[in-house]
Amino acid sequence: MCKPTVISKKGDVSVTQCLNCKMINIWNKSTLISFSFEQFHAFIRATENLKFDDYLEHAPDGTEVVILATPYPDISMVFTRAEWYEFFQALYEAQFMQQVYQLVHN
Ligand SMILES: [Zn+2]
Repeated sequence: MCKPTVISKKGDVSVTQCLNCKMINIWNKSTLISFSFEQFHAFIRATENLKFDDYLEHAPDGTEVVILATPYPDISMVFTRAEWYEFFQALYEAQFMQQVYQLVHN
């Protein structure tokens, strides 16, 4: 049985976890990404030193965005600067909360 718990929320981004499945879900507008706990921590390690300004591109409407590959081929996420900070704040908070939950349940 899935018992998802919201472990962080920033703007449009929510992160939930299910302790039964040991899965993390990142909800970001129309995108839903599912990770195992290990994949989630690997994703944070792989992205934590990325600087928005180093990867700047322009969307078709001229907006400055950063495009981030996902673990799934051919699917990428697009962030404006504000969305980028919200997304990673939500992830870091989720990582912290996820570790707290694990301590409590072990
Ligand atoms: Zn579950």
